Amino acid sequence: MSYTRPIEPIRAGDDEIREALRDAHLPSLLPALAQITGDLSLLRPGLRADTSSMVGDPSGFAGGAAAAEEARALAFETLVRFRDGGSRPAPPPDRAFLRAILAWFAPDGAIEPYLPLVEEELSVAERDLRAPDWRRDALAPGRDFRVAIIGAGMSGLLAAHRLQQAGVPFVILEKNADVGGTWLENTYPGCRVDVANSFYSYSFAQKDDWPQHFSTQDVLLQYFRDCAETFDLRRHVRFRTEVLAAEYDEARAGWRLRVRGPDGREETIEVDAVVSAVGQLNQPKLPDIPGRERFGGPAFHSARWNHDVPLAGKRVAVIGTGASAAQLVPVVAQSAAHLDVWQRTPNWLLPAADYHAEIPAGQRWLMLHVPSYAHWHRFWLFWRLGDGMFLPRAKVDPAWPHPDRAVSASNDELRGLLTLAIQMQLADRQDLLPKVLPTYPPASKRILVDNGAWLEALKRPNVALHTEGIREIVENGVVARDGTLHEADVIVWGTGFQASKFLQPMRVVGRGGVDLHDQWAGDARAYLGITIPNFPNFFCLYGPNTNIVVNGSIIFFSECEVHYVLGCLRLLLAGGHRALSPKQAVHDAYNERIDAGNLQMAWGVSRVNSWYKSESGRVAQNWPFTLLEYWHATRRVEPGDYEIV
Ligand code: NAP
Repeated sequence: MSYTRPIEPIRAGDDEIREALRDAHLPSLLPALAQITGDLSLLRPGLRADTSSMVGDPSGFAGGAAAAEEARALAFETLVRFRDGGSRPAPPPDRAFLRAILAWFAPDGAIEPYLPLVEEELSVAERDLRAPDWRRDALAPGRDFRVAIIGAGMSGLLAAHRLQQAGVPFVILEKNADVGGTWLENTYPGCRVDVANSFYSYSFAQKDDWPQHFSTQDVLLQYFRDCAETFDLRRHVRFRTEVLAAEYDEARAGWRLRVRGPDGREETIEVDAVVSAVGQLNQPKLPDIPGRERFGGPAFHSARWNHDVPLAGKRVAVIGTGASAAQLVPVVAQSAAHLDVWQRTPNWLLPAADYHAEIPAGQRWLMLHVPSYAHWHRFWLFWRLGDGMFLPRAKVDPAWPHPDRAVSASNDELRGLLTLAIQMQLADRQDLLPKVLPTYPPASKRILVDNGAWLEALKRPNVALHTEGIREIVENGVVARDGTLHEADVIVWGTGFQASKFLQPMRVVGRGGVDLHDQWAGDARAYLGITIPNFPNFFCLYGPNTNIVVNGSIIFFSECEVHYVLGCLRLLLAGGHRALSPKQAVHDAYNERIDAGNLQMAWGVSRVNSWYKSESGRVAQNWPFTLLEYWHATRRVEPGDYEIV
């Protein structure tokens, strides 16, 4: 099922088409035109996407203005012909056709191995290729098998949709009063996604009328609400129902969940399998700063925004400068009387001029009228933001001689470009430069998407950036390490989440009475981030080592994970089995590979603070390899990896 509206036939006059093409993203448009006309000759060798350089023409097109003009003229002729022919698209492309398009993007063949993944990712044939190709009633007629999904955020809704397609009964247990997860809970001013929406959206629910490339929180929340409606999932959700504990019942080979409902009453629910879709970033972390409790005014975390506290005209202290604070500070700064920003570690900033911009009218027109323009734009983002651009630049070169500032020559090149971008923004405020220029290698932490708003905010006369450290919090403000009191009416904790405490505060007890948190001992691990030894039929989404720092979108990972979970259930149902859990040796070998992989990445070797490491210092959050590798790893379930009963 597609969430996309039917494509509208072109009725526009020549001038209107010309106008729309002015805004066109050419690397997305030419393949789309080749696809709708079935004419690969439109992908002329002289007209190329620029998939490798980090800077260059912002249009993403190689060859400069002349090539871009030639491409626009070609697109114009093609669209006029398409219109005059009745806007009838050619049949969906076959593999050979797609291969030719990918070769146009990367003549060196780098994208060729992605072909089957691209077919799925783009639903090129307007078919949801990731939908399960089996149904429970065909595999196991009459068998009662029920799943509980914990959480109705992005990944929980996705799991529900797939289970529904497979005809597997399920219930979603959601502690909040609505769907949306992180997009429901984070309502701080300025909250928006930092991965462009054509990519940060379900592959099977593409939307062609996003108002902006990087949607604001309300738009995303509405997207997930709409998906819940469109896929008829709401009736399966028990809202305001928190899972307190989950216990494996060996005799029944199923799970008992202790839940607390909206009326505060506790009850037990029995299911055959559990899908945990609780996210990694939902338990706010309040810092261990002395005196935190002593503050006399309102104080709240970015993910628990208190909208009853107006900040206009107030003295506000924001503690922390991560992705959340970087979005809220520029907004709060506009109306606060004074804003103290307390920074421990500066961020690298990735210039993106369109971060807050509306999608230009011409691009919207193309989304509506050129079938597959949006698909190829999604591909463009997938490749540039995925494995193509930043991942290779985050990889450690052991022979690189300057490990303090960069992890490789290409990482150093990235550092140079990002440094220049910061320097240019601070031409008029050189005093800020030493405070905001990171000293650690880029990609050791998430690089924040930036259109200049962050440094503009720090330059404001009513904003002070503090890097001297905090000694304590007192009743009326924040005391710096040098003893100076900075008075505040309100404190905002932009201090992130308890990311390494996966699945807490739930108590999860597996086979033989093993407590999951004891087994993990503060260092969460799972096989493929999904299954855990001793915890049969317990599946994690966005579990250990499935987060990404510089490549891709979490939705891509969730789609892979859910595909794999459905594969596990299929194995159980088709084989008449009751439960499966990964073999310890398989799990351990996998985790060794992950650990070794993370130690070859900037975020693994760098000593900078980040939420990517557990208390032991191990990277428990991140996937260190390509998107393609995760896709392959989760394609099919290898029965030999599992103990099956
Ligand atoms: P975060 O990245 O963990 O940032 C927390 C901030 O608080 C850091 O600046 C940290 O400093 C600081 N901090 C923590 N403890 C402190 C202490 N005791 N004293 C002083 N400062 C302290 O958290 P976040 O900003 O909420 O973002 C978390 C993740 O959520 C992001 O990496 C991203 O994956 C996701 N996110 C995404 C978006 C988006 O899509 N636009 C928006 C928000 C969040 P150090 O750096 O020194 O640790």
